[in-house]
Amino acid sequence: MKNNIMKVVIIGAGPAGVYSALTLSKHAKVTLIEREEKLGGTCVLYGCIPTKSILSQLIISRQASNMSLNTLREYALTSINTISKSLEHLLNSHGIEVIHANGFLRSSMVHASNTSLAADKVLVSTGTRRERLGKVKFTEDLAYTNEDYNKVVIVGGDAGGIELGWMMKKLGKEVHLIDKNDLLLQNIDRTLSEIVTNFLSQIGIKLYLGKKVSKIDETSVTLEDNQKISGDAVFVTFGRKPNIEGFEEIPHEKYIYVDEYLRTQIPNIYAAGDIIGTFTAHEAIYAGIIAAKNMLGEKREFIVEGIPKVIYIYPQIAYVGTTNGNCVTFNTLNLTRTIVERESEGFLKICERDNRVIGAVAFMPYAEDVISLISVLIRYQISLKDTIDLVMPHPSYLEAITEALNMLQSKG
Ligand SMILES: Cc1cc2nc3c(=O)[nH]c(=O)nc-3n(C[C@H](O)[C@H](O)[C@H](O)COP(=O)(O)OP(=O)(O)OC[C@H]3O[C@@H](n4cnc5c(N)ncnc54)[C@H](O)[C@@H]3O)c2cc1C
Repeated sequence: MKNNIMKVVIIGAGPAGVYSALTLSKHAKVTLIEREEKLGGTCVLYGCIPTKSILSQLIISRQASNMSLNTLREYALTSINTISKSLEHLLNSHGIEVIHANGFLRSSMVHASNTSLAADKVLVSTGTRRERLGKVKFTEDLAYTNEDYNKVVIVGGDAGGIELGWMMKKLGKEVHLIDKNDLLLQNIDRTLSEIVTNFLSQIGIKLYLGKKVSKIDETSVTLEDNQKISGDAVFVTFGRKPNIEGFEEIPHEKYIYVDEYLRTQIPNIYAAGDIIGTFTAHEAIYAGIIAAKNMLGEKREFIVEGIPKVIYIYPQIAYVGTTNGNCVTFNTLNLTRTIVERESEGFLKICERDNRVIGAVAFMPYAEDVISLISVLIRYQISLKDTIDLVMPHPSYLEAITEALNMLQSKG
């Protein structure tokens, strides 16, 4: 290390790169390379922020399908610009140098366009990108087009497809959703899959399940059985590609290989975020922080168990861990809060193994908070009997947790 201060170069200013830079900034000279004009990565510019800006307005207004997509787009663009600008100020105020250029690695040396940069440690947090399929749209395009539609065809029924489908339905559009599996969210939990699939169908989304797609174009999708579904627009919600170009010398398959400390197989080069194969912004943030701490000499493991996942429709869908254990299902219609708010839908399923909570799924108002609290029990391995002293506010949706834990304890 020169002048006793460690030099770190980070490539990619998405959640992983930004949080890593901020964590490092007190103890190292940090340079962040970002090829986009704006900071924040996929999450801020194309993913979490535009979609949640639009969804939040639809959720707040609950019944309103008279909001226009263009008004919501304006709202989303304001969120994007505000957050991106505030990141710029934050990084600047922490003394982090930002270079807007394409970064790449050659013989373990980082380059930003034509300049090579000296670094003691490097973090690759280049995330993923879309590859264009002709004029077919992606959810990522939502904030950046003025188009409106009456009929929308969506390919892919995971989190992204469910959010987009619910959003379009709320906006009064005719929605057709295609997925290759027989149920939506098939790989998480059977109860959740069945309930969510039924819910989307009941609100009027036309589902095509167990259907493989053979052809997609701008306005139509052809299924393998030759059925053709046409609309004003087709949106594809899966299939992002890792940004590995320029970093191929780091051992990888689809994603960069890292050990539990987020070290790649090249000394002093770390990787974090979607480029290592995680798929959420909060995992990217956590990985960025863990990588930073390890670069600073700590030895922190990146622990993937018990990280909550949320799908932002109404009611919310959230899940954590695995439901492959001893489970109970609590119907949230029995909660005082549900009665007070005249809600009609909801459940929390929670599971244990060897006297520890191992997972939960929820489809209910505030599922995000309920599941995040349960994730604390999982990540800190709190035993079931120690949860007896958990007290939740009344009347709240969080009481679903204590009710379900009681059921689990009584089941034995
Ligand atoms: C539609 C959509 C909705 C989403 N919603 C949510 C959500 O609600 N919650 C959630 O947790 N996650 C959500 N995600 C996922 C989330 O966006 C990603 O998990 C997160 O952005 C990953 O962060 P990252 O830092 O690893 O990479 P990214 O955010 O992809 O950032 C990588 C950055 O690196 C830059 N870069 C790449 N290569 C280079 C290079 N060679 N030189 C310089 N710069 C480079 C890119 O321009 C980019 O800015 C969503 C994703 C999508 C697509």
